[in-house]
Amino acid sequence: MNPEFSICVYCGSRPGERPEFSQAAQAVGQWIGRHGGQLVYGGGRTGLMGTVAEATRLAGGRVVGIIPKALVDKELANPLCDELHVVDTMHERKAMMGERADAFVALPGGIGTFEELFEIWTWRQLGYHDKPTGILNTAGYYDGLLGFLAHSVREGFMGEWQMELIRTGTDVPELLTALRAEVPLHPREDRLSENL
Ligand code: AMP
Repeated sequence: MNPEFSICVYCGSRPGERPEFSQAAQAVGQWIGRHGGQLVYGGGRTGLMGTVAEATRLAGGRVVGIIPKALVDKELANPLCDELHVVDTMHERKAMMGERADAFVALPGGIGTFEELFEIWTWRQLGYHDKPTGILNTAGYYDGLLGFLAHSVREGFMGEWQMELIRTGTDVPELLTALRAEVPLHPREDRLSENL
């Protein structure tokens, strides 16, 4: 069965300190599965990455994992993936995640998550893609970052319009429903790879 839509989830390869983080990852996976969606993610079994993948599968969703070969052992490539792509480099992973998804959401995570979020956001502001992008601010995890971004706007290094390219929320169904609603019905031809 073809999935209705694909959401790329960026999140921690660790679980974090609060149970709310794993609960949120689980709720994201459940939402994707229950809505006939497909998860695109980094392909690991550890941390929130493993939680979101398992929850998606258990709720009947499809899971596409994309992992660089150097991380197959470290992040434990996930055998539950319907499609597991082992690629040569991190760049290839991120480009493929970008191409396979209709929308992106960042859950709590560390530098890997930040880097992925900022890259896909940058690509959007440059017009390399027009796919909706969001931040799930579970338990106020991203409050500090959002505060700093507002500071950057005030100090003149960012425009309000750049902030408007990112949707933020704390409620999983609300945020995912809003991101899904923004996915163009007839997406223009994907331009990610030709712009890399
Ligand atoms: P983290 O949020 O640091 O736990 O990492 C989450 C995911 O981001 C992991 O699958 C990392 O392999 C991945 N990741 C992507 N790009 C990078 C990067 N440049 N540095 C570190 N991790 C990265």
